[in-house]
Amino acid sequence: MLFTPTVIMNLLRKPATRQYPFTVRDPFPNYRGELYIDIDGCIFCGTCARKCPSQCIEVDKEQGLWTCDPHACVYCGICRDTCPTKCLHMKDVHRKPLTEKTMMVEKGEPPKPKKKAAETAPKAETSKAEAEPKADDADKAESKKK
Ligand code: SF4
Ligand code: SF4
Repeated sequence: MLFTPTVIMNLLRKPATRQYPFTVRDPFPNYRGELYIDIDGCIFCGTCARKCPSQCIEVDKEQGLWTCDPHACVYCGICRDTCPTKCLHMKDVHRKPLTEKTMMVEKGEPPKPKKKAAETAPKAETSKAEAEPKADDADKAESKKK
């Protein structure tokens, strides 16, 4: 009869489990659920693709395409944490089970290519050439004074 107090306690306590799926627990703060992207904030740097341990993200900078295989995602949150523009987010629920394989494909505005040094060099020469006539003008103005 040593266990009688335990039996009585268990009869009086509330159940330690929930009647899932009828009773669903509230998610914890910073829960790592379904991944989504705010494509307008993406600069297509590729950091998320390089850091992803399951290699399920692809970034095409030329086309402005961000692709993710959600079935390969392990919900680690590394992509979200390392994104420099903080445009990756995770919902507080997991993705619903699917019967067919899907891909997340988001199209954004690809970054404009930076101008090469060769393209900017003629401008510098032109501005130099523009500066020289001004010096001549100054000489002419001085000779007129004389
Ligand atoms: S790390 Fe962020 S900004 Fe860079 S490609 Fe991924 S989602 Fe876009
Ligand atoms: S949460 Fe982890 S596994 Fe999923 S896409 Fe991001 S880095 Fe990859």
